[in-house]
Amino acid sequence: MKVMKFGGTSVGSAQRMKNVAKLVCDGQTNLVVLSAMSGTTNSLVEISNYLSLDNKDSALEVINKLYNKYVGHIEELYSTPEYKEKGMALIKERFDYIRSITRDVFTSFEEKIILSQGEIISTGMFHLYLLEQGINAALLPALDFMRTDENGEPDQQYIREHINSTLVQNPGYEIYVTQGFICRNAFGDVDNLQRGGSDYTASLLGAAIMADEIQIWTDIDGMHNNDPRFVENTKPVSDLSFDEAAELAYFGAKILHPTCVLPAKSNNIPVRLLNTMDPQARGTNISSVQYRDRIAAIAAKDNITAIRIHSGRMLLAYGFLRKVFEIFESYKTPIDMISTSEVGVSVTIDNTSHLDAIVDDLKKYGMVEVDRNMVIISIVGDLEPYSHGYAGKIFSSLTNVPIRMISYGGSSHNVSILVKAEDKVPALKALSAGLFE
Ligand code: ADP
Ligand code: ASP
Ligand code: MG
Repeated sequence: MKVMKFGGTSVGSAQRMKNVAKLVCDGQTNLVVLSAMSGTTNSLVEISNYLSLDNKDSALEVINKLYNKYVGHIEELYSTPEYKEKGMALIKERFDYIRSITRDVFTSFEEKIILSQGEIISTGMFHLYLLEQGINAALLPALDFMRTDENGEPDQQYIREHINSTLVQNPGYEIYVTQGFICRNAFGDVDNLQRGGSDYTASLLGAAIMADEIQIWTDIDGMHNNDPRFVENTKPVSDLSFDEAAELAYFGAKILHPTCVLPAKSNNIPVRLLNTMDPQARGTNISSVQYRDRIAAIAAKDNITAIRIHSGRMLLAYGFLRKVFEIFESYKTPIDMISTSEVGVSVTIDNTSHLDAIVDDLKKYGMVEVDRNMVIISIVGDLEPYSHGYAGKIFSSLTNVPIRMISYGGSSHNVSILVKAEDKVPALKALSAGLFE
């Protein structure tokens, strides 16, 4: 069985959903994971924001606008009165439910329920469309098998057991459809895998059922060698190793959710990034094959905070770094980059929810400086010690870009550089010119 995941743009209109139906009916049994139609999750976030401010009128305005959009989609998607009626019943029920939530006290519990509706609606609509086309399709509710544990991490054993038993209980279908992004948490409440999390659903399910392949269908022909939103003339990279893809996703290549490569890697299941708008394009193959002697791609991660601890006491001292790391650990704050010298250490974090407390604690060990609004730029490829010349090329490309931190050698496929937000686009462009042209 293959897992085929389609993102928001791929199911963003009735016509696109019809195209997706053609792609999933390829004569094989497929588990299809869908995102919400594009723009929907953003609208649901907007509704939740209004409700958390107790602004029910504005929330209802957004709800009504979104509902009207869906009425148009239903009219266009189905051709028979029977299915138009079923489609209308589906969205009426979902939007009545959303409206009923506006009458409740609003907490994060209600917020998660609202955010889950986009995927529930898109999969419900798509399933009905497959049935109207005479396709033998089953809709499997992700809330029955997608679950996170007490730490908010996917409970992979639970997922494995429950998706496999769900499939055993629903034998004989050609297409299984389920929701990306949404899950239950350790308490059984509705939750989600963070924005962009449908990719993660696909790879977790692919690993759980030991799929032949995980396909991530999106609006571009694979992973490009630089961020196409900021750099012109980027090109798709035809092959990536799991490690390269994981670094690119973690360090900001939006085409993949930051942690979605790991389940595929752990189970050695190939991942293909494919383009719904151009299904014949090769896209990107991600597998355990390692590619030698090349720079594959560049990515950028925004909203980074750098913290420098400057201490004469670090000189010749051991145990200093442990004490520093323990402070971050005690606030459950992961560190991305680090660079050290005899008199100081700089680290970066992207979760600043405990920044003030961390800085207070760090002050015990020396002077602390904080730089907000920084960007990590990662250059990813085969950077084993035997490959030489790449560091020179990287830094000569960046002659005109002020650099705050450099991290090289931590992994064999990543050089990371920290720059100010305003230097991000010039740095990305300079790197493309220096490394790929
Ligand atoms: P989906 O809705 O299908 O999940 P996303 O919008 O999350 O799609 O991801 C696809 C987008 O990622 C592309 O349209 C592109 O703008 C952006 N992107 C950022 N970096 C890259 C990259 N290196 N290669 C390809 N796409 C990238
Ligand atoms: N619909 C969710 C989002 O917009 C999840 C996803 O599309 O991957 O973030
Ligand atoms: Mg995405």
